[in-house]
Amino acid sequence: MKNNILKEILSSQGKCLIIPHQSPDGDCLGSSFTLSHCLDRHGIEHHIIMDDLIPSNYLFLKKDNMIKSDQVSGTYDYGIILDTSSKDRAGTTDEVLSRCSHLLVIDHHKTNAYFGDTNIVKMVSSVGELLFGLYEEIDYKIDTNDAIGLYTSIVTDTGEFRYSNTTSETLKVAARIFETGFDFEKISQEIFSNQELKKVILKSNALSGIELHGQNKMALLKVTQTMLGELECEMYHSDGIVEAGRDISGIEVSVLLKEISDKEIKVSMRSKSYLDVSEISLLFGGGGHIRAAGCTLNMNLQEAEQTIIKEIESRL
Ligand code: AMP
Ligand code: MN
Ligand code: MN
Repeated sequence: MKNNILKEILSSQGKCLIIPHQSPDGDCLGSSFTLSHCLDRHGIEHHIIMDDLIPSNYLFLKKDNMIKSDQVSGTYDYGIILDTSSKDRAGTTDEVLSRCSHLLVIDHHKTNAYFGDTNIVKMVSSVGELLFGLYEEIDYKIDTNDAIGLYTSIVTDTGEFRYSNTTSETLKVAARIFETGFDFEKISQEIFSNQELKKVILKSNALSGIELHGQNKMALLKVTQTMLGELECEMYHSDGIVEAGRDISGIEVSVLLKEISDKEIKVSMRSKSYLDVSEISLLFGGGGHIRAAGCTLNMNLQEAEQTIIKEIESRL
């Protein structure tokens, strides 16, 4: 067996803090859930940091050991940061990170900054797939709870096994997860058939405002504070909109501009077959994967729109 830090953590019985990224998604929530369950099964004292709201379709992954950063006290032997490419994207404060003697980063982003003391970074579909590989190396036998976390992580980051990050290995891992006999129909319904009505309406409103640019190869979508206010939505309800833009025939790249304030716009980008959106997001201090990336622009919506259209049109 290779030198596996997970083995070291499980045998040291050290105290751990699991840290997903800000604005949690299915991958970081699912991988936090299974890792926490694995630590539970080994009797390891630990917490999961959860400062942001968990989107309602992932509430089945909520655990009693979730705490907020301002509830953290004392020190931890290990801080395990999941699905996070750089320190500023971690779902906690620098102060909390400094309470951890050893930072372990487990990630699959192309743009990972290797900011931990130990970094396990592999270009696989999801952190769930990566964790499954670590479990196998140490002969950890997954149970149905592990399966629930791992499946959520993999099925969401692969877009239900449709995206190019799905490999034969991903499907072999999925098969092994299915062999536990977990109720996948129930979990699929929790994730995909359990959307709040106002979220669906927000998506519909955003899609009806779609603009096409770059010889109709670029879809531009927006979610403004006014749109959120009308429906009493939060920005996390905009999940899934950018992917719908990419699903349109002839579209190579879909961009969603999320208006956080009149000085801050979060940009989500998804490409279909050739554009490397991680390169574009890196230009603006962001990061991500080849087909899914993001960045934050400190300008108003109109300026952000012009900036992004100009940068993308030159590449299409
Ligand atoms: P999103 O569009 O927010 O779903 O993000 C797509 C991918 O880009 C995810 O893997 C994120 O981790 C990454 N990403 C999004 N925003 C940023 C950012 N500001 N800095 C670095 N990576 C980001
Ligand atoms: Mn993620
Ligand atoms: Mn991920």
